[in-house]
Amino acid sequence: MNRDFLSIVGELNLAKKLLVVGHIMPDGDDISSVLSATLGLQKLGKEVVACIDWRIPWYFYEFDETNLIKGYDEVVNSGFEPDFMLIVDASSPDRIGRFQEFLGKVTTAVVDHHGTNTLFGTLNWVDTKFGSTAQMILRINTELGVSYDERLATINLMGIATDTGFFRYSNADEIVFSDATKLVSMGGKAYLVSRIFENKRIEQFKLLSTMVEHICTENDGKIVYSYLSKKDYESNNCTEDDSGGFVGELRSIQGVELAIFFSEYEKNEVHISFRSKDWFDCSKLAVLLGGGGHPRAAGCTLKGELSVIVEQVVREAKLMFSTQLEAVKNI
Ligand code: AMP
Ligand code: MN
Ligand code: MN
Repeated sequence: MNRDFLSIVGELNLAKKLLVVGHIMPDGDDISSVLSATLGLQKLGKEVVACIDWRIPWYFYEFDETNLIKGYDEVVNSGFEPDFMLIVDASSPDRIGRFQEFLGKVTTAVVDHHGTNTLFGTLNWVDTKFGSTAQMILRINTELGVSYDERLATINLMGIATDTGFFRYSNADEIVFSDATKLVSMGGKAYLVSRIFENKRIEQFKLLSTMVEHICTENDGKIVYSYLSKKDYESNNCTEDDSGGFVGELRSIQGVELAIFFSEYEKNEVHISFRSKDWFDCSKLAVLLGGGGHPRAAGCTLKGELSVIVEQVVREAKLMFSTQLEAVKNI
């Protein structure tokens, strides 16, 4: 058994008042991991507050349990004094937003599957062999003796499903399927998970159409990118939450190796998502630009004018694409 895993389980056993913290711009794995750990620890009789310093996209409220997640101000104003902080699915301190202020003040465990993790906890269990952090939480809960019911199993399953593109991406390996099977056998319902994403507003399709109008290609169609400005979101009566999955649509285009999606979620603040199909290491490009992630899915956030950012990032992407292509050819 992994030593870091066992130390974290040991500390969680002793802890009484915990914060379970996810990352900013939360995705399905993040929300699943926060909620699965919170519900598991609560079942053991501990006082646990689920926290994310960011607005949660509306469609996750399909699961009532999402209402358990508190923002930073709410947690601080409640006067809750944690004796332990469990951070999930976050690769560096900036990824937990203002909850960074608890670092150094309270014993912290980081549980994550990003190769770009900076190991910023007191204890760190970071393992890239897992397709999702949700699988690591399943192991922690199991070791702690948490009993699973249908709700917990379904919520835990959500993280595995979402980080593997519903079992379609290259990280959907044997461990992923076996963990998913375990959760389904404990009552997890895949159709309830997919309902979160099969609940689209018509406006989201209109937003998708705007994104499609902005598609540009480079390198004979091997690189594809598109963008949505703050204005595009507003004119379609949408927010950045409504473009979840758009970068996956770009990657799905025939012949594409690298897809890039620029989302201006605030005026002059742009989140950039990178996705690749077979060989391009997106995490190297994201790290170069101050972000992080996985080889096939990574991201970063930049400040500045959207058109300038698009131009700069596409230039860097093309450079790195050529360098990595040469390296791949030489293998
Ligand atoms: P996204 O494109 O936002 O869906 O993110 C893809 C992957 O990259 C996820 O695993 C994220 O956790 C990670 N990621 C996205 N943005 C950042 C960032 N600014 N810093 C570190 N990791 C990031
Ligand atoms: Mn995540
Ligand atoms: Mn993840």
